[in-house]
Amino acid sequence: MAHCLVTGGAGFIGSHLTERLLAQGHEVSVLDDLSTGREENLNAVRDHPHLTVKTGSITDPVLLAEAVRGVEVIYHLAAAVGVRLVADDPVRTIETNIYPTEVLLRLAVQGKQKFFLASTSEVFGKNPKERWTEEDDLQLGATSHPRWAYGCSKAIDEFLALAYHRKYGLEVVVGRFFNVVGPRQVGHYGMVIPRFVDQALLGGPIVVYDDGQQVRCFGHVREVVDAVSRLMETPAAVGRVFNIGSDQPVTIRDLALKIAARVNPQVELKFLPYAEAYGNDFEDVRRRVPDLSRLQATLGLKPCMPLEDILDDIIRHKRAGLSGPQG
Ligand code: UDP
Repeated sequence: MAHCLVTGGAGFIGSHLTERLLAQGHEVSVLDDLSTGREENLNAVRDHPHLTVKTGSITDPVLLAEAVRGVEVIYHLAAAVGVRLVADDPVRTIETNIYPTEVLLRLAVQGKQKFFLASTSEVFGKNPKERWTEEDDLQLGATSHPRWAYGCSKAIDEFLALAYHRKYGLEVVVGRFFNVVGPRQVGHYGMVIPRFVDQALLGGPIVVYDDGQQVRCFGHVREVVDAVSRLMETPAAVGRVFNIGSDQPVTIRDLALKIAARVNPQVELKFLPYAEAYGNDFEDVRRRVPDLSRLQATLGLKPCMPLEDILDDIIRHKRAGLSGPQG
């Protein structure tokens, strides 16, 4: 059993990963500044004897040096994420996503820790291919569009992690998350499914941006953290990049219709131009579908939960939350 550090461990994906690592018998230290993460995300494991939670920012190098002490495995999930957050505050995105990762990677080289770097499908930018493999080109937009700061900052992280692997033998695995969804995800930072479910539960309308023909694949967070933890136990994964998520495409309009059908069929859809949602300089990604062959070949499995089951799970949790103490 290992002592693991999870940066961003109180976040949506980080808290699910923390629960999983604890369930496997590992000791877990969480470092989170609770900016987009929430303490209550760790409610289920709050009193676990193998969990330590430290509130603090990864932008503090002294804190990072303390956090890695005695640790054998680092899962670096802390980042500025979410289309809304990135559009509103590109400075924070760049400053949170680049320098702290560099500091942490250097510490891991010194401490010989194994490292998981959470990256994102945003690095592919607007590549027009039907399905993206890990070796496909990154096609980011112009620097005048703040959205691309996110993918670009994470691409720098990837370059650095892979360079440290080659130069210093750092044992690193890079995971490019596609749209990850599930219980505890909130809609404040733009994430579409919690927003649509909340809108439907409140009687509508469900606000679909643009024409709703943009395509995404939604993977359940449980399957995603399962893939992450398995990759870290697989020697063949070291020094490589993996797409992680679902490969079942759906248009955003169909997604809205599926949610309406489940929550309240009376709910209407409203279509909103991007300029009104995110401002004039916003550019969206029209289609984002991963090729998961590498993940499948390395692990012998890939996320496969049907979207319908994922939506039922999220809606059940949302309804329980609305009627529960945190409602
Ligand atoms: N979207 C939408 N309404 C919302 C939020 C998002 O129609 O309230 C759309 C958004 O334009 C994008 C898709 O849903 O095409 C997924 O958005 P999200 O921010 O969840 O993730 P992205 O894939 O853009 O990173």
